[in-house]
Amino acid sequence: MTARLIDGTALAKHWRDQVAQDTLALRARGLTPGLAVVLVGDNPASQVYVRNKVKACDQAGLHSVLAHLPADLSEAALLDKVAQLNQDPTIHGILVQLPLPAHINAHKVIEAIDPAKDVDGFHVASAGALMTGLPGFWPCTPHGCMKMLEHIGYPLSGKHAVVIGRSNIVGKPMALMLLAQNATVTICHSRTTHLKAMCLQADVIVAAVGQRNTVSADMVKPGAVVIDVGMNRDEAGKLCGDVDFAGVGQVAGYITPVPGGVGPMTIAMLLVNTLESAKRRLSV
Ligand code: NDP
Repeated sequence: MTARLIDGTALAKHWRDQVAQDTLALRARGLTPGLAVVLVGDNPASQVYVRNKVKACDQAGLHSVLAHLPADLSEAALLDKVAQLNQDPTIHGILVQLPLPAHINAHKVIEAIDPAKDVDGFHVASAGALMTGLPGFWPCTPHGCMKMLEHIGYPLSGKHAVVIGRSNIVGKPMALMLLAQNATVTICHSRTTHLKAMCLQADVIVAAVGQRNTVSADMVKPGAVVIDVGMNRDEAGKLCGDVDFAGVGQVAGYITPVPGGVGPMTIAMLLVNTLESAKRRLSV
């Protein structure tokens, strides 16, 4: 492989250590940052994600609460739970694990979270803040990708970034963050024609699709930075991204692996946002 690896596990550790250090200082001033994670139902993948988030909080010295609620919980009861957490002074961040059961309107639940505690950055107020450049919480996954680009000292200004995927939680906020750093941004999606031609023009490619081998070596300009957000399984059930890692690694300048890339950074940014929320509480 000729590309340099961006080690998300190591970089996430750096951020988690930083959060742990800052948390110690905050605790000495009488404030422990607190995260509430709300899980509705028994989706196995969600249970793993939630467990990892709570564990990361504990390791960094944050206070964490896991509210594991039954799958048949009513929407009204979930909204009550969110309202209760909004009022709880020991909680600075609220995360409602998605997806929610079909009978619950996820949008309504996310909008019920106090934007000051929206550490996932999914509330419309957070999205608006990102769009207008105002302070708010950035969604953790694209936030983690930006930290990776910052870590390698990549100068984004004037560069062409291609984001593949336009979801509200990854693709769109990713594009806005790159734009804010003066990159020229192209957003591609399932209706994009000539994806290969678009990618070949890119200095930076962020793949957030959810399909293996969406980005192959012949789609990448030599030396480009390739960030792989995707989380998929191959035929053997092994975790893999959207990028043909072996092939693209021969062409790209930098590449993120899956696992060990964007995933760990997402959790680290959740801790960063929760700490930031607690710090904001101290300054009001
Ligand atoms: P979504 O399914 O919400 O969005 C996928 C996007 O990919 C859509 O915009 C879709 O286009 C686009 N797309 C689908 N097929 C193609 C194609 N053939 N060519 C180009 N674009 C295509 O997914 P998410 O944004 O939530 O997540 C994307 C991936 O990232 C998933 O694998 C997910 O598991 C992973 N993920 C990883 C995280 C991490 O921490 N590492 C965190 C969050 C997500 P259209 O809008 O037209 O349908």
